[in-house]
Parts: sequence; structure tokens; C-alpha cells
Amino acid sequence: MDLNDTPEQAEYRTKVRTWLEAHKADAPGLEGPQPGHEEAFVTVRRAWQREMAEGGFAGVTWPAEFGGQGLGPLDQVIVGQEFQAAGVPGILDVIGIGMLGPTIIAHGTDEQKQRYLAPMLHADEVWCQLFSEPAAGSDLAGIQTRAVVQEDGSWKLTGQKVWTTNAHFASYGLILARTNSEVTKHKGMSMFIVPMDAEGVEIRPLRQITGEAEFNEVFFDDVHIPADAIVGPVDGGWMVALTTLLFERLAIGGGSESFGYRADRFAKAIADDPVASADSDVRHRLGKLATDLLALRYTGYRHLTAIERGGLPGSEAALGKVTAVKAAIEAGDLIADVIGPEALAEGEWAYLISFLPGLKSAGGTEEILRNMVGERVLGLPTEPRLDKGVPFSELKALEREGAKS
Ligand SMILES: Cc1cc2nc3c(=O)[nH]c(=O)nc-3n(C[C@H](O)[C@H](O)[C@H](O)COP(=O)(O)OP(=O)(O)OC[C@H]3O[C@@H](n4cnc5c(N)ncnc54)[C@H](O)[C@@H]3O)c2cc1C
Repeated sequence: MDLNDTPEQAEYRTKVRTWLEAHKADAPGLEGPQPGHEEAFVTVRRAWQREMAEGGFAGVTWPAEFGGQGLGPLDQVIVGQEFQAAGVPGILDVIGIGMLGPTIIAHGTDEQKQRYLAPMLHADEVWCQLFSEPAAGSDLAGIQTRAVVQEDGSWKLTGQKVWTTNAHFASYGLILARTNSEVTKHKGMSMFIVPMDAEGVEIRPLRQITGEAEFNEVFFDDVHIPADAIVGPVDGGWMVALTTLLFERLAIGGGSESFGYRADRFAKAIADDPVASADSDVRHRLGKLATDLLALRYTGYRHLTAIERGGLPGSEAALGKVTAVKAAIEAGDLIADVIGPEALAEGEWAYLISFLPGLKSAGGTEEILRNMVGERVLGLPTEPRLDKGVPFSELKALEREGAKS
């Protein structure tokens, strides 16, 4: 690929810079929510996303008819690069705009697109992704939350989700629920839109090592879901979920250069410490990290070019996510060794060291993604599967037999 901007891209970059010069003063800081001040964080970040949307910098790749700019992924990268260079944050609702909005655009009805996409873009309504359950993460198709159809065509939803990012301030969630247990597990699920303030929805925050509570457990007790809240076909929810997961992997691994951490930022922190900067092991680790970060950047560009040319990234894109998270963890270890425990207290490195390792699980764990690459890219034999061809309702009995033998 050509690494220089095309004339159109250079023009777009100038447009982003000009807008940033005029609006940068309104931007909040880069730090995440501070314990006890989460609400204030959400309020200022909502206002900033709204300003970005009005300037045309939220939903850059969304079609224009839904309030987006109809531009390509490389234009989105330009926005990311310029916001990063200006030291200002991006959108608040990364899950909504990056993953759930595109899912509704791909599978939703015209009414759903008209109703939900504009408020999502302007952060008037933030969204959450209700997929994982206590016994269904990597094996997402094992979900047990049920939606039962009622006589009038509406649904009753019962079950529990976990690790739901942003549920505590989300207006809506996209929820994967089982609608038919008498078919194989991938075939009996459907996707629904659920208002997070509906009767029977209970949200309990989960506090993390970072001190914040970004995740939640969400319980559903006979929640009424209208018939027109289904996204995609009845029992066809797996295909809808795959669309979300594809966008999730792209968001985490795709073009991000290890989450905005460039080798020069680490080099500066190390150079400030005369003992560490003279240590050959530290210098060796920094060199390796710099190489990994560069490789990530160029691999990310290759994926983006493939998408720009109309293709979809293959399963090998999974390696981008694995490598990006590994680089973040290695960088955190290096900085923690150089600066010591106070690096965790707060400030520039605390998020890198305490939060980013959790991304090993988000959007597919390393083991699952490596399995995917082994099977679909390298052509290795597939994992043994006991659930093939077995209706979901019989899987529990199979598990019990397996546990006995
Ligand atoms: C930062 C973050 C944000 C998240 N946000 C959301 C959200 O908003 N909404 C949501 O629905 N979920 C969310 N999740 C949950 C995430 O999707 C799950 O953590 C992920 O799918 C893994 O599932 P699990 O945690 O249940 O781990 P498990 O699936 O229980 O895995 C446990 C371990 O076993 C290994 N393992 C499992 N199966 C296999 C296998 N077949 N072969 C080899 N090894 C295997 C895994 O690799 C892992 O190491 C989030 C997670 C994180 C960390």
C-alpha cells in the first residue's frame, strides 16, 4: 500500500485539523473515569461526542443517510491520528458506534435505523452489548438467557448477562437470547433491542482493579420486549452476533497502534530514569516493543487497505488483536519495572498497566483466536466438538454424562 496520504486524504486531514483547532478548547482530558466521579465523566464525554457528531467526526464510516460521513476506514484512521496528536479523546460510545450501530445498519429494519441511529451518534442514547453470560463467554452460543414468544407476538426475556460495559449509563442494549432450545445451539438464538430502564431489568456494577466500575451484571426478570424489537430473523441471531463480533475485533486490533501508546512515549519515560536507561535488558525490551508496535501499525494498514478495496479482513485479523494486547501488556510490564509501583497509582500509565491486560479476554480470548487462526488460516484439524448436531436442550444431559465418566 501507499503510506502517503492521497490528495483527498490530505485534504480530509486538513479538515480534521482545522476543526480541532476551533474545538479543542471544549475537549475533556484523556484520563478515564475517576472512582466516585463516574457520572461527571460520562456527562462531559457525552457533550464532547455530541460536538464531534455535529462536526461530522462520529460515525465517519457510517452511511450518510444515517448521519454518518460515508467515508472509508482510512478516513476514520486519519480522525484517530489527528485526535491523538491533538491530545484529545474520541467518542464515548465506542461499543455503540463501533459495533452495535453497524450491526443495526446491517440487520435492522428501516424503522429501527430511523429511531435509534441518530441519538446513538449524538450520545443522547448510549448503548451496551448484552452477549456474555456467567457460563457463556468463549462459547457464546451456549447462552441460556431465554426469550419466549407471547400470544400477541411480543417476547418475555429472562436470564443473566455479565461483563456488560457501560450498562449503568446505557439507554439501550443489544441482547442475544435463546428462542428455540430444540435445535442445535447456534440455530436457536435471536437478537433484540432492550431498553435498560424496562421493568424487570436490574443492573449491578462490578468494581475492577482500576478502581472504576465499568462492567456490570445485568439481570432480566420477565422483561417485556415488543415484537418489533427483534433485530434480524427469529432464530437467526447468530449471524447478527457474528457481525457485531467482527466489528469488535476490528475495533480492538485493527488499526490501533497498541491503544495510542507509541514507542517514543515509553522511550521518554525510560530516558528520564538514568538507572533504567543504562540497563541493557530494559533497552533490549524497549527495542523489541518498538519493533512489535511498528509491525502492528503496518499490519493494521494492510487490513485497512483490504477493507478499503472492498474486501473483509480474514481470520488472520485475529492475530492483530492478539499482538496488540500482548504489546500493551509487555509495555505495561516494562513501565512498571522502570517506574515502580507508583506507576499504578494514577496518571499516564495506570490505565495501561491495570486495564489493558483485561482485553486479553474481550472480543475473543487469545486461545480462541489462536484456535481460529490454526483452523481457518493454517488448515489444522478442528477442535473436537461434542455438541455438533445435538439440540441445545440435550446438551446439559450430555455435560452431566461427561462429568460422571
Ligand atoms: C474489558 C472487557 C470488556 C468486556 N465487555 C463486554 C461487553 O460489553 N459485553 C459482553 O457481552 N461481554 C463483554 N466482555 C466479556 C468478554 O466477551 C468475555 O470475557 C470473553 O468472551 C471470554 O469469556 P469468559 O470471560 O467467560 O472466559 P471463558 O470463556 O470462561 O474462558 C476462560 C479461559 O479458558 C480458555 N478457553 C475457553 N475455551 C477454550 C477452548 N475451546 N480452547 C482453549 N482455551 C479455551 C479461554 O481462552 C480463557 O483463558 C468484556 C470483557 C472484557 C475483559
